[in-house]
Amino acid sequence: MNDHARVSDWRPRADIDLDALRANVRALLERTTGGARLMAVVKADAYGHGMLPCARAAREAGAAWLGTATPEEALALRAAGDTGPVLCWVWTPGGPWREAVEAGVDVSVSAGWALEAAAAAGRAAGRPARVHLKADTGLGRNGSPPAEWPGLVAAARAAEEAGAVRVTGLWSHFACADEPGHPSIARQQAAFSWALEEAERAGLVPEVRHLANSPATLTLPESHYDLVRTGVAVYGLSPSPEIGAPEDFGLRPVMTLRAPLAAVKRVPGGHGVSYGHHYTTPGETTLALIAAGYADGVPRHASGTGPVLVAGKWRTVAGRVAMDQFVVDLGGDTAAAGDEAVLFGPGDGGEPTAEDWARACGTIGYEIVTRVGPRVPRVYHGERPWETWTGTPPGPGAEPGERPRETA
Ligand SMILES: *Cc1c(COP(=O)(O)O)cnc(C)c1O
Repeated sequence: MNDHARVSDWRPRADIDLDALRANVRALLERTTGGARLMAVVKADAYGHGMLPCARAAREAGAAWLGTATPEEALALRAAGDTGPVLCWVWTPGGPWREAVEAGVDVSVSAGWALEAAAAAGRAAGRPARVHLKADTGLGRNGSPPAEWPGLVAAARAAEEAGAVRVTGLWSHFACADEPGHPSIARQQAAFSWALEEAERAGLVPEVRHLANSPATLTLPESHYDLVRTGVAVYGLSPSPEIGAPEDFGLRPVMTLRAPLAAVKRVPGGHGVSYGHHYTTPGETTLALIAAGYADGVPRHASGTGPVLVAGKWRTVAGRVAMDQFVVDLGGDTAAAGDEAVLFGPGDGGEPTAEDWARACGTIGYEIVTRVGPRVPRVYHGERPWETWTGTPPGPGAEPGERPRETA
């Protein structure tokens, strides 16, 4: 065990299984239909897993595209040496349009002002901005509404002819793909077909048309088009329990969040525990302290409900989760400071999963992994040994190997 690994033995850490991530990408690629390619969505620090190692592993496993929310995330991929197709979609006026165009990052455009910003950046950079036009087919979030779509595609075609932009993508996003059979799904698919026809009528010939997120990739083959945009499934979580468990789709959770017990003590019955005394020991018992709190991403809503594996059994968060620590009641069992607590992981070692935490505190697995805080080191397993990154897998001579690495 190297020094880094030992350092992280005495504090909470998130182990990131990059071999599982690669296998998830391959399992998702097997499900895609009609030759559709895969975009690994690595926004929000790869849903809390660490953007660069996850992006590299996803590329190695066959992700042709990477997707980010913010331009800063996309530019960080370029700064790290990734040269493949990248799309970023959360833009505001004044954003780094020119930097993105110069870095060869594809940008999403939902409105006239954004098309103008992209075209101006293309003119300034001396190369056309690569633009994905986004239609609002019913999500009601970003995207051009149908009334504005014909005008937007016509303006984009004119900007193409002027050499300022190249429309590389046409796309949209589902509202309820995680609820199979929801009537909005068919309505959105029909609206997307119409949007594609309008764009084609205007003379646009995109490289990729894309609609499917993880739930649609898993349940709706007719939505795959040229590209699927998978986020949560890449990290081995199911988009919702209604759709199924990860293993139903050959997916395996990538993150395991563990922490050593920071204290263990006997206390009498009737002892209040943590702020507000929302838990009182029912009798003489053993309390164990875990040095992770809401600053580390343990939701305060998990107070009194969150599950933790300690000494072979599931325990429940006793009383309130504080900023840096929480307590579990071990009942009659014994444990020692330094023993391991597992908050969540793949589940096959008897530990809870991120989905169990989501259920315990009324949220979704996405939020449980994404909010794991910057104070928790991510320890990578299965990282490939090359030092620089070209965005393509290493050439002959590079040996795959185990190189656990820690980043803050
Ligand atoms: C986050 C996001 C995705 C990925 O969604 P998952 O459900 O995690 O697969 C795809 N497309 C857009 C526009 C997103 O914002």
